[in-house]
Amino acid sequence: KLHNTILELKGNIRVFCRVRPLLSDEDLGTEPKVYSYPTTAETLGRGIDVIQNGQKSSFTFDKVFVPDAGQENVFVEISQLVQSALDGYKVCIFAYGQTGSGKTYTMMGRPGSPTEKGLIPRSLEQIFQTIQSLQSQGWKYEMQVSMLEIYNETIRDLLSSNQSCSDVSRTESGVAGKQYAIKHDANGNTHVSDLTIVDVCSSREVSFLLDQAARSRSVGKTQMNEQSSRSHFVFTLRISGANESTEQQVQGVLNLIDLAGSERLSKSGATGDRLKETQAINKSLSSLSDVIFALAKKEDHVPFRNSKLTYLLQSTEQQVQGVLNLIDLAGSERLSKSGATGDRLKETQAINKSLSSLSDVIFALAKKEDHVPFRNSKLTYLLQPCLGGDSKTLMFVNVSPEPSSVGESLCSLRFAARVN
Ligand code: ADP
Ligand code: MG
Repeated sequence: KLHNTILELKGNIRVFCRVRPLLSDEDLGTEPKVYSYPTTAETLGRGIDVIQNGQKSSFTFDKVFVPDAGQENVFVEISQLVQSALDGYKVCIFAYGQTGSGKTYTMMGRPGSPTEKGLIPRSLEQIFQTIQSLQSQGWKYEMQVSMLEIYNETIRDLLSSNQSCSDVSRTESGVAGKQYAIKHDANGNTHVSDLTIVDVCSSREVSFLLDQAARSRSVGKTQMNEQSSRSHFVFTLRISGANESTEQQVQGVLNLIDLAGSERLSKSGATGDRLKETQAINKSLSSLSDVIFALAKKEDHVPFRNSKLTYLLQSTEQQVQGVLNLIDLAGSERLSKSGATGDRLKETQAINKSLSSLSDVIFALAKKEDHVPFRNSKLTYLLQPCLGGDSKTLMFVNVSPEPSSVGESLCSLRFAARVN
Protein backbone atom coordinates (compact mmCIF):
# COMPACT_ATOMS: atom_id res chain seq x y z
CA LYS A 1 0.00 0.00 0.00
CA LEU A 2 1.23 3.47 -0.85
CA HIS A 3 0.15 4.72 2.57
CA ASN A 4 2.68 2.55 4.31
CA THR A 5 5.43 3.61 1.96
CA ILE A 6 4.87 7.26 2.82
CA LEU A 7 5.08 6.55 6.50
CA GLU A 8 8.25 4.57 6.23
CA LEU A 9 9.82 7.48 4.43
CA LYS A 10 8.56 10.09 6.79
CA GLY A 11 8.50 8.47 10.19
CA ASN A 12 5.44 9.22 12.23
CA ILE A 13 6.67 10.99 15.34
CA ARG A 14 7.73 14.61 15.20
CA VAL A 15 8.65 17.20 17.80
CA PHE A 16 8.22 20.96 17.45
CA CYS A 17 9.59 23.36 20.05
CA ARG A 18 7.90 26.69 20.71
CA VAL A 19 9.35 29.44 22.90
CA ARG A 20 6.76 31.97 23.98
CA PRO A 21 7.55 35.70 24.20
CA LEU A 22 8.18 37.46 27.51
CA LEU A 23 4.93 38.68 29.06
CA SER A 24 4.53 42.33 30.02
CA ASP A 25 5.17 41.68 33.72
CA GLU A 26 8.24 39.55 33.15
CA ASP A 27 11.77 40.70 32.49
CA LEU A 28 15.03 39.11 31.56
CA GLY A 29 16.77 40.47 34.67
CA THR A 30 20.50 40.90 34.69
CA GLU A 31 21.34 37.38 33.59
CA PRO A 32 23.20 36.94 30.34
CA LYS A 33 21.24 35.59 27.42
CA VAL A 34 19.81 32.18 28.23
CA TYR A 35 18.31 31.05 24.91
CA SER A 36 19.59 31.43 21.41
CA TYR A 37 18.44 30.31 18.02
CA PRO A 38 20.52 29.97 14.89
CA THR A 39 18.10 31.99 12.79
CA THR A 40 17.47 35.58 13.80
CA ALA A 41 15.13 37.15 11.27
CA GLU A 42 12.97 34.10 10.72
CA THR A 43 10.25 32.68 12.91
CA LEU A 44 11.36 29.15 12.34
CA GLY A 45 14.56 27.20 12.84
CA ARG A 46 15.62 23.75 13.92
CA GLY A 47 18.01 24.33 16.80
CA ILE A 48 17.84 25.88 20.22
CA ASP A 49 20.70 26.49 22.66
CA VAL A 50 20.12 26.92 26.37
CA ILE A 51 22.73 28.30 28.75
CA GLN A 52 22.50 27.45 32.43
CA ASN A 53 25.29 28.38 34.86
CA GLY A 54 27.57 29.07 31.94
CA GLN A 55 26.96 25.64 30.43
CA LYS A 56 25.46 25.40 26.99
CA SER A 57 23.06 22.63 25.98
CA SER A 58 22.05 22.37 22.34
CA PHE A 59 18.90 20.72 21.05
CA THR A 60 17.62 20.02 17.57
CA PHE A 61 13.96 19.40 16.76
CA ASP A 62 11.91 19.03 13.62
CA LYS A 63 11.03 22.69 13.99
CA VAL A 64 11.77 25.41 16.53
CA PHE A 65 9.41 28.40 16.71
CA VAL A 66 11.00 31.55 18.07
CA PRO A 67 9.01 33.90 20.39
CA ASP A 68 7.96 36.09 17.46
CA ALA A 69 6.23 33.20 15.70
CA GLY A 70 2.49 33.87 15.67
CA GLN A 71 -0.37 31.40 15.72
CA GLU A 72 -0.64 31.57 11.93
CA ASN A 73 3.07 30.72 11.52
CA VAL A 74 2.55 27.68 13.73
CA PHE A 75 -0.64 26.51 12.03
CA VAL A 76 0.93 26.62 8.58
CA GLU A 77 3.37 23.97 9.76
CA ILE A 78 0.69 21.58 11.02
CA SER A 79 -2.15 22.10 8.56
CA GLN A 80 -1.14 19.10 6.42
CA LEU A 81 -1.01 16.87 9.45
CA VAL A 82 -4.54 17.97 10.34
CA GLN A 83 -5.60 17.34 6.77
CA SER A 84 -4.33 13.77 6.95
CA ALA A 85 -7.05 12.96 9.53
CA LEU A 86 -9.49 13.52 6.64
CA ASP A 87 -7.52 10.98 4.62
CA GLY A 88 -8.18 8.38 7.30
CA TYR A 89 -5.17 8.73 9.57
CA LYS A 90 -5.22 8.75 13.33
CA VAL A 91 -3.43 11.88 14.47
CA CYS A 92 -2.33 13.03 17.93
CA ILE A 93 -0.99 16.49 18.64
CA PHE A 94 0.28 17.11 22.19
CA ALA A 95 1.35 20.27 24.00
CA TYR A 96 3.96 19.50 26.66
CA GLY A 97 5.65 21.93 29.04
CA GLN A 98 5.66 23.51 32.48
CA THR A 99 2.68 25.56 33.63
CA GLY A 100 2.83 29.00 32.04
CA SER A 101 4.92 27.90 29.05
CA GLY A 102 2.15 28.43 26.47
CA LYS A 103 0.47 25.04 26.02
CA THR A 104 -3.09 26.31 26.23
CA TYR A 105 -2.17 29.35 24.14
CA THR A 106 -0.81 27.03 21.46
CA MET A 107 -3.83 24.72 21.55
CA MET A 108 -6.74 27.10 22.17
CA GLY A 109 -5.27 30.58 21.69
CA ARG A 110 -6.24 33.78 23.45
CA PRO A 111 -9.95 33.84 24.22
CA GLY A 112 -11.81 36.42 22.16
CA SER A 113 -8.88 37.23 19.85
CA PRO A 114 -9.49 36.00 16.28
CA THR A 115 -5.87 36.58 15.22
CA GLU A 116 -4.59 34.63 18.21
CA LYS A 117 -6.78 31.58 17.74
CA GLY A 118 -4.91 28.41 18.56
CA LEU A 119 -4.55 25.24 16.60
CA ILE A 120 -7.76 23.58 17.82
CA PRO A 121 -10.09 26.24 16.36
CA ARG A 122 -7.90 26.63 13.27
CA SER A 123 -7.88 22.88 12.64
CA LEU A 124 -11.65 22.69 12.91
CA GLU A 125 -12.16 25.55 10.50
CA GLN A 126 -9.84 23.92 7.98
CA ILE A 127 -11.50 20.52 8.32
CA PHE A 128 -15.04 21.80 7.86
CA GLN A 129 -13.95 23.90 4.87
CA THR A 130 -12.31 20.91 3.21
CA ILE A 131 -15.34 18.73 3.81
CA GLN A 132 -17.49 21.25 1.99
CA SER A 133 -15.27 21.22 -1.06
CA LEU A 134 -15.10 17.40 -1.11
CA GLN A 135 -18.90 17.20 -1.15
CA SER A 136 -18.95 18.00 -4.87
CA GLN A 137 -16.86 14.88 -5.49
CA GLY A 138 -19.40 12.68 -3.78
CA TRP A 139 -17.80 12.60 -0.35
CA LYS A 140 -20.02 12.67 2.72
CA TYR A 141 -18.51 13.08 6.16
CA GLU A 142 -19.81 12.51 9.64
CA MET A 143 -18.01 14.09 12.56
CA GLN A 144 -18.19 13.38 16.25
CA VAL A 145 -16.59 15.25 19.10
CA SER A 146 -15.77 14.22 22.64
CA MET A 147 -13.80 16.08 25.28
CA LEU A 148 -12.47 14.68 28.49
CA GLU A 149 -9.86 15.36 31.06
CA ILE A 150 -7.69 12.97 32.98
CA TYR A 151 -7.23 14.13 36.53
CA ASN A 152 -5.44 11.92 39.10
CA GLU A 153 -5.67 9.00 36.64
CA THR A 154 -9.46 9.42 36.52
CA ILE A 155 -11.41 10.33 33.40
CA ARG A 156 -13.94 13.15 33.55
CA ASP A 157 -16.42 13.85 30.79
CA LEU A 158 -16.34 17.56 29.94
CA LEU A 159 -19.48 17.51 27.81
CA SER A 160 -21.76 15.75 30.22
CA SER A 161 -24.80 18.04 30.23
CA ASN A 162 -25.95 17.52 33.80
CA GLN A 163 -22.65 17.53 35.61
CA SER A 164 -22.89 19.31 38.92
CA CYS A 165 -20.12 19.75 41.47
CA SER A 166 -21.39 16.84 43.53
CA ASP A 167 -21.32 14.59 40.45
CA VAL A 168 -17.70 15.46 40.02
CA SER A 169 -16.68 14.53 43.53
CA ARG A 170 -18.63 11.29 43.46
CA THR A 171 -16.98 10.28 40.23
CA GLU A 172 -13.52 11.16 41.46
CA SER A 173 -13.87 9.24 44.68
CA GLY A 174 -15.18 6.31 42.66
CA VAL A 175 -18.08 5.79 45.09
CA ALA A 176 -20.85 6.32 42.59
CA GLY A 177 -21.23 7.88 39.17
CA LYS A 178 -19.82 6.88 35.86
CA GLN A 179 -17.03 4.45 35.18
CA TYR A 180 -15.58 5.73 31.91
CA ALA A 181 -14.01 2.36 31.21
CA ILE A 182 -11.74 2.34 28.16
CA LYS A 183 -12.14 -0.40 25.55
CA HIS A 184 -10.53 -0.86 22.17
CA ASP A 185 -12.32 -2.88 19.51
CA ALA A 186 -10.82 -5.03 16.75
CA ASN A 187 -11.06 -2.15 14.23
CA GLY A 188 -8.82 0.06 16.34
CA ASN A 189 -11.65 2.21 17.62
CA THR A 190 -11.70 3.38 21.22
CA HIS A 191 -14.85 3.31 23.31
CA VAL A 192 -15.10 5.06 26.64
CA SER A 193 -18.25 3.93 28.40
CA ASP A 194 -20.64 6.71 29.48
CA LEU A 195 -18.62 9.35 27.62
CA THR A 196 -20.70 11.99 25.85
CA ILE A 197 -20.18 11.98 22.09
CA VAL A 198 -21.71 14.80 20.08
CA ASP A 199 -22.41 14.79 16.34
CA VAL A 200 -21.22 18.04 14.83
CA CYS A 201 -21.48 19.60 11.42
CA SER A 202 -19.88 23.02 11.78
CA SER A 203 -16.89 24.56 13.49
CA ARG A 204 -19.25 26.94 15.33
CA GLU A 205 -20.92 23.99 17.02
CA VAL A 206 -17.54 22.75 18.13
CA SER A 207 -16.59 26.20 19.51
CA PHE A 208 -19.73 26.10 21.58
CA LEU A 209 -18.74 22.69 22.96
CA LEU A 210 -15.20 23.91 23.65
CA ASP A 211 -16.63 26.73 25.78
CA GLN A 212 -18.74 24.22 27.66
CA ALA A 213 -15.69 22.02 28.26
CA ALA A 214 -13.60 24.97 29.45
CA ARG A 215 -16.23 25.78 32.06
CA SER A 216 -16.23 22.28 33.45
CA ARG A 217 -12.44 21.81 33.57
CA SER A 218 -10.92 21.50 36.96
CA VAL A 219 -8.34 24.10 37.78
CA GLY A 220 -6.07 24.26 40.78
CA LYS A 221 -3.82 26.77 42.42
CA THR A 222 -0.10 26.31 42.66
CA GLN A 223 2.55 28.79 43.57
CA MET A 224 3.37 29.13 39.92
CA ASN A 225 0.11 29.94 38.22
CA GLU A 226 -3.31 30.46 39.70
CA GLN A 227 -5.09 28.94 36.75
CA SER A 228 -2.61 26.16 36.33
CA SER A 229 -4.10 23.09 34.87
CA ARG A 230 -3.46 19.94 36.81
CA SER A 231 -5.17 17.66 34.33
CA HIS A 232 -4.68 16.48 30.77
CA PHE A 233 -7.27 17.82 28.34
CA VAL A 234 -8.08 15.50 25.46
CA PHE A 235 -10.11 16.79 22.51
CA THR A 236 -11.12 14.07 20.07
CA LEU A 237 -12.67 14.51 16.63
CA ARG A 238 -13.75 11.32 14.89
CA ILE A 239 -14.11 11.67 11.16
CA SER A 240 -15.83 9.16 8.96
CA GLY A 241 -16.16 9.76 5.26
CA ALA A 242 -17.74 7.73 2.49
CA ASN A 243 -17.95 8.19 -1.24
CA GLU A 244 -21.24 7.23 -2.81
CA SER A 245 -19.89 6.57 -6.29
CA THR A 246 -16.96 4.31 -5.50
CA GLU A 247 -17.98 1.38 -7.71
CA GLN A 248 -18.01 3.59 -10.78
CA GLN A 249 -14.72 5.08 -9.81
CA VAL A 250 -12.95 1.77 -9.87
CA GLN A 251 -14.27 0.95 -13.36
CA GLY A 252 -13.47 4.39 -14.74
CA VAL A 253 -9.91 4.33 -13.58
CA LEU A 254 -9.08 1.13 -15.42
CA ASN A 255 -10.30 2.66 -18.69
CA LEU A 256 -8.26 5.76 -18.17
CA ILE A 257 -5.11 3.75 -17.82
CA ASP A 258 -5.71 2.09 -21.20
CA LEU A 259 -6.38 5.39 -22.95
CA ALA A 260 -3.49 7.26 -21.47
CA GLY A 261 -0.86 5.18 -23.15
CA SER A 262 -2.19 5.58 -26.67
CA GLU A 263 -2.92 9.22 -27.47
CA ARG A 264 -1.86 12.77 -26.66
CA LEU A 265 -3.79 15.97 -27.30
CA SER A 266 -1.50 17.62 -29.81
CA LYS A 267 -0.78 14.48 -31.82
CA SER A 268 -4.31 13.23 -32.17
CA GLY A 269 -5.93 16.57 -33.02
CA ALA A 270 -8.83 15.66 -30.82
CA THR A 271 -12.29 17.25 -30.87
CA GLY A 272 -15.61 16.55 -29.17
CA ASP A 273 -15.71 13.41 -27.13
CA ARG A 274 -12.14 12.58 -28.04
CA LEU A 275 -11.04 15.96 -26.68
CA LYS A 276 -12.95 15.37 -23.47
CA GLU A 277 -11.32 11.98 -23.09
CA THR A 278 -7.89 13.38 -23.73
CA GLN A 279 -8.43 16.14 -21.22
CA ALA A 280 -9.46 13.57 -18.66
CA ILE A 281 -6.29 11.66 -19.35
CA ASN A 282 -4.19 14.78 -19.00
CA LYS A 283 -5.93 15.63 -15.77
CA SER A 284 -5.36 12.23 -14.29
CA LEU A 285 -1.76 12.08 -15.48
CA SER A 286 -1.00 15.46 -14.00
CA SER A 287 -2.70 14.38 -10.78
CA LEU A 288 -0.51 11.32 -10.80
CA SER A 289 2.50 13.58 -11.22
CA ASP A 290 1.29 15.79 -8.34
CA VAL A 291 0.85 12.74 -6.15
CA ILE A 292 4.28 11.34 -6.95
CA PHE A 293 5.81 14.77 -6.37
CA ALA A 294 4.07 15.07 -2.98
CA LEU A 295 5.26 11.59 -2.08
CA ALA A 296 8.81 12.38 -3.13
CA LYS A 297 8.72 15.58 -1.09
CA LYS A 298 7.38 13.54 1.83
CA GLU A 299 4.44 15.86 2.27
CA ASP A 300 1.77 14.95 4.80
CA HIS A 301 -1.11 15.64 2.48
CA VAL A 302 -0.93 13.84 -0.82
CA PRO A 303 -3.70 14.92 -3.24
CA PHE A 304 -4.86 11.40 -4.08
CA ARG A 305 -8.42 12.54 -4.52
CA ASN A 306 -7.84 14.91 -7.42
CA SER A 307 -8.31 12.15 -9.96
CA LYS A 308 -9.90 8.77 -10.05
CA LEU A 309 -6.63 7.18 -11.11
CA THR A 310 -4.75 8.41 -8.08
CA TYR A 311 -7.66 7.66 -5.81
CA LEU A 312 -7.69 4.06 -7.02
CA LEU A 313 -3.96 3.77 -6.52
CA GLN A 314 -4.27 5.14 -3.02
CA SER A 315 -6.88 2.69 -1.89
CA THR A 316 -9.94 0.92 -3.14
CA GLU A 317 -11.70 1.49 0.13
CA GLN A 318 -14.98 3.35 -0.05
CA GLN A 319 -14.67 4.73 3.42
CA VAL A 320 -12.16 6.64 5.46
CA GLN A 321 -12.10 6.78 9.22
CA GLY A 322 -9.76 9.28 10.77
CA VAL A 323 -9.27 10.56 14.28
CA LEU A 324 -7.79 13.87 15.38
CA ASN A 325 -6.72 14.03 19.03
CA LEU A 326 -5.54 17.39 20.36
CA ILE A 327 -4.11 17.15 23.84
CA ASP A 328 -3.25 19.95 26.26
CA LEU A 329 -1.13 18.12 28.82
CA ALA A 330 -0.94 18.93 32.51
CA GLY A 331 1.99 21.09 33.59
CA SER A 332 5.26 19.17 33.62
CA GLU A 333 6.93 21.16 36.43
CA ARG A 334 8.79 19.16 38.99
CA LEU A 335 7.52 18.62 42.46
CA SER A 336 9.94 20.83 44.40
CA LYS A 337 9.10 24.03 42.57
CA SER A 338 5.39 23.99 43.22
CA GLY A 339 5.84 23.20 46.94
CA ALA A 340 3.23 20.49 46.78
CA THR A 341 1.79 18.71 49.81
CA GLY A 342 -1.33 16.61 50.45
CA ASP A 343 -3.78 16.55 47.54
CA ARG A 344 -1.46 18.68 45.46
CA LEU A 345 1.30 16.13 46.01
CA LYS A 346 -1.00 13.32 44.86
CA GLU A 347 -1.93 15.31 41.76
CA THR A 348 1.69 15.99 40.94
CA GLN A 349 2.59 12.34 41.30
CA ALA A 350 -0.28 11.31 39.00
CA ILE A 351 0.88 13.87 36.44
CA ASN A 352 4.49 12.73 36.66
CA LYS A 353 3.45 9.13 36.25
CA SER A 354 1.35 9.74 33.16
CA LEU A 355 3.88 12.06 31.54
CA SER A 356 6.69 9.59 32.03
CA SER A 357 4.44 6.81 30.66
CA LEU A 358 3.78 8.97 27.61
CA SER A 359 7.49 9.46 27.14
CA ASP A 360 8.12 5.70 27.53
CA VAL A 361 5.44 4.88 24.95
CA ILE A 362 6.62 7.37 22.36
CA PHE A 363 10.22 6.31 22.93
CA ALA A 364 9.32 2.62 22.47
CA LEU A 365 7.38 3.45 19.29
CA ALA A 366 10.22 5.54 17.89
CA LYS A 367 12.67 2.72 18.63
CA LYS A 368 10.20 0.24 17.07
CA GLU A 369 10.35 -1.93 20.16
CA ASP A 370 8.17 -5.02 20.35
CA HIS A 371 6.62 -4.14 23.67
CA VAL A 372 5.08 -0.70 24.02
CA PRO A 373 3.92 -0.03 27.60
CA PHE A 374 0.55 1.54 26.73
CA ARG A 375 -1.15 0.27 29.86
CA ASN A 376 0.96 2.15 32.38
CA SER A 377 -1.29 5.20 32.39
CA LYS A 378 -4.86 6.18 31.47
CA LEU A 379 -3.63 8.68 28.92
CA THR A 380 -1.51 6.23 26.93
CA TYR A 381 -4.11 3.48 27.19
CA LEU A 382 -6.85 5.82 25.97
CA LEU A 383 -4.75 6.94 23.00
CA GLN A 384 -3.23 3.52 22.22
CA PRO A 385 -4.86 3.02 18.78
CA CYS A 386 -3.88 6.57 17.79
CA LEU A 387 -0.23 6.27 18.81
CA GLY A 388 0.96 3.03 17.23
CA GLY A 389 0.67 1.59 13.74
CA ASP A 390 0.39 4.04 10.89
CA SER A 391 -0.85 6.90 13.07
CA LYS A 392 0.91 10.26 13.25
CA THR A 393 2.11 11.99 16.38
CA LEU A 394 3.31 15.53 16.90
CA MET A 395 4.59 16.83 20.22
CA PHE A 396 4.90 20.54 20.89
CA VAL A 397 7.37 21.24 23.64
CA ASN A 398 6.46 24.65 25.02
CA VAL A 399 9.16 26.69 26.71
CA SER A 400 9.06 29.89 28.74
CA PRO A 401 11.76 32.51 27.97
CA GLU A 402 12.20 33.60 31.61
CA PRO A 403 15.70 33.03 33.01
CA SER A 404 14.12 31.73 36.22
CA SER A 405 12.47 28.93 34.24
CA VAL A 406 15.64 27.71 32.61
CA GLY A 407 15.81 24.58 34.79
CA GLU A 408 12.28 23.53 33.85
CA SER A 409 12.93 24.42 30.21
CA LEU A 410 15.93 22.12 30.15
CA CYS A 411 13.83 19.30 31.62
CA SER A 412 11.15 19.82 28.96
CA LEU A 413 13.69 19.96 26.15
CA ARG A 414 15.41 16.80 27.39
CA PHE A 415 12.03 15.05 27.58
CA ALA A 416 11.30 16.08 24.01
CA ALA A 417 14.77 15.22 22.78
CA ARG A 418 14.30 11.70 24.11
CA VAL A 419 11.21 11.13 21.99
CA ASN A 420 12.50 13.00 18.95
P1 ADP B 1 0.14 26.88 29.97
O1 ADP B 1 -1.13 26.42 29.35
O2 ADP B 1 1.34 26.14 29.48
O3 ADP B 1 0.08 26.90 31.46
P2 ADP B 1 -0.58 29.41 28.86
O4 ADP B 1 -0.91 28.99 27.48
O5 ADP B 1 -1.72 29.66 29.77
O6 ADP B 1 0.43 28.38 29.54
O7 ADP B 1 0.36 30.68 28.74
C1 ADP B 1 0.76 31.45 29.86
C2 ADP B 1 0.60 32.93 29.52
O8 ADP B 1 1.45 33.29 28.44
C3 ADP B 1 -0.80 33.28 29.08
O9 ADP B 1 -1.08 34.57 29.58
C4 ADP B 1 -0.72 33.32 27.58
O10 ADP B 1 -1.67 34.19 27.02
C5 ADP B 1 0.70 33.81 27.34
N1 ADP B 1 1.28 33.25 26.12
C6 ADP B 1 1.67 31.98 25.94
N2 ADP B 1 2.20 31.78 24.72
C7 ADP B 1 2.14 32.97 24.10
C8 ADP B 1 2.54 33.44 22.80
N3 ADP B 1 3.10 32.62 21.91
N4 ADP B 1 2.32 34.73 22.50
C9 ADP B 1 1.76 35.57 23.40
N5 ADP B 1 1.37 35.20 24.64
C10 ADP B 1 1.56 33.92 25.00
MG1 MG C 1 -2.84 25.63 30.32
